[in-house]
Amino acid sequence: MKVGESRQFHMCLDVRGALTNWKKKDFRHMFKHADGRTMTPDEAKAQLLEELSKGHNFIPYGKCDNFDHKEQGCMGHPVNEGERA
Ligand SMILES: [Zn+2]
Repeated sequence: MKVGESRQFHMCLDVRGALTNWKKKDFRHMFKHADGRTMTPDEAKAQLLEELSKGHNFIPYGKCDNFDHKEQGCMGHPVNEGERA
């Protein structure tokens, strides 16, 4: 096993799972509009349905530049643990 080669993964949301399993109140405070206003549960749900219609089964929490929306979510980011000053 190689030392110093590890990966970090972002949390992601399973869109289909959320739409299937979440109660209405679970959608509250989960999403925000671009202007910072919190979405109502109905708006949040509509947002998720739109992601699904784009073929997005996963959406990242926060910023992720290596994200697979269709299959697996965050694909990982290398972390250099071996490099220490
Ligand atoms: Zn990521």
